[in-house]
Amino acid sequence: MTDPDRSARQQAGAADAVLTLPGTILTTPGPGRANGGPGGCTLGLDIGGTFVKSALVAADGTVRHESRCPTRSADGPDAVLRAVLDHAAEALAVARDAGEDVRAVGIASCGLVDEDTGTVVFSASIQWRDLPLRRLASERLGLPVALGHDVRSGGLAEARLGAGRGHRAVLFVPVGTGVGGALLLDGKPFPGSHWRSAEVGHVVTRPDGDACPCGQRGCLDTIAGGVAVARRYNQRCGALPPVSGAEEVARRAAAGDPAAVQVWEEAADAMAQTLLAAVTLFDPAVLVLGGGLSQAGEQLRAPLRRGLEQRAAFQALPDLVFAQLGERAGRIGAGLLAWDLLHAHEGVRA
Ligand SMILES: [Zn+2]
Repeated sequence: MTDPDRSARQQAGAADAVLTLPGTILTTPGPGRANGGPGGCTLGLDIGGTFVKSALVAADGTVRHESRCPTRSADGPDAVLRAVLDHAAEALAVARDAGEDVRAVGIASCGLVDEDTGTVVFSASIQWRDLPLRRLASERLGLPVALGHDVRSGGLAEARLGAGRGHRAVLFVPVGTGVGGALLLDGKPFPGSHWRSAEVGHVVTRPDGDACPCGQRGCLDTIAGGVAVARRYNQRCGALPPVSGAEEVARRAAAGDPAAVQVWEEAADAMAQTLLAAVTLFDPAVLVLGGGLSQAGEQLRAPLRRGLEQRAAFQALPDLVFAQLGERAGRIGAGLLAWDLLHAHEGVRA
């Protein structure tokens, strides 16, 4: 059994180094207001199906004291909530022991998140439904709390501090087990009216395709998500033993396995079709590819670019770039959401 608190303490102690991110377009504070200084920092939390990850984020984007603990999703929704709040309390205690002035908390959650009410409306992976997480966290931690969505928070961090910095319209597309999407305008997430914007993974790309858990048929996820790529490869060639992930399909495609090449190219082509629709609607300057499958590098980007170029008519194609913050983007973005909350309060007071 793993003790999440002990794990958090060990991780926090081990991750004591200060990590400086490349550049920032945040409007406030320079290096003089970094951690421990008069500007203080925020605590950013990223709740995923497997881990809760946290980081202290200074206003200039400096990050330190990163830690993580298991989400405990197998133990049910109440256990997940306990794990999240215990981890946050522990991270705050560790930060304060180290002399940090933590001013607010940002939480990025998977699932459908209503950022107005501070509620996780639904999350399949951690079985939360209508959970007033912002209020519960604020009561437990005694600090202002901002609640956001994990993909939009990751996109926010990439747009301000990573691969999308300096651009007005950024489309962030993490490709992992599924295909996510977030639209960032002027350095802010655009969540839509019902918190469902930029769900590129659920754009129907092949109307006669496979059933998607969302209820539609032929969503991009069913062709280009990591789970789908592995499944389609196993179906195509009856692989024994079956491959367990899309990374293996990518390796086999690179080695010339014809079935792997076919499944991989179909995935990239479906992505190109869907992303051209997104480009047509939003005209982003950059398309930031993130998530585990972006590790495939040019093996993903080259066929995607080719598919976009073959289809484009009047559209100005965005630069295809790779995310720079990796799996840290969600918690850094959550920390930025907390800074935005503080700045909004300061603006109201001013
Ligand atoms: Zn779907």
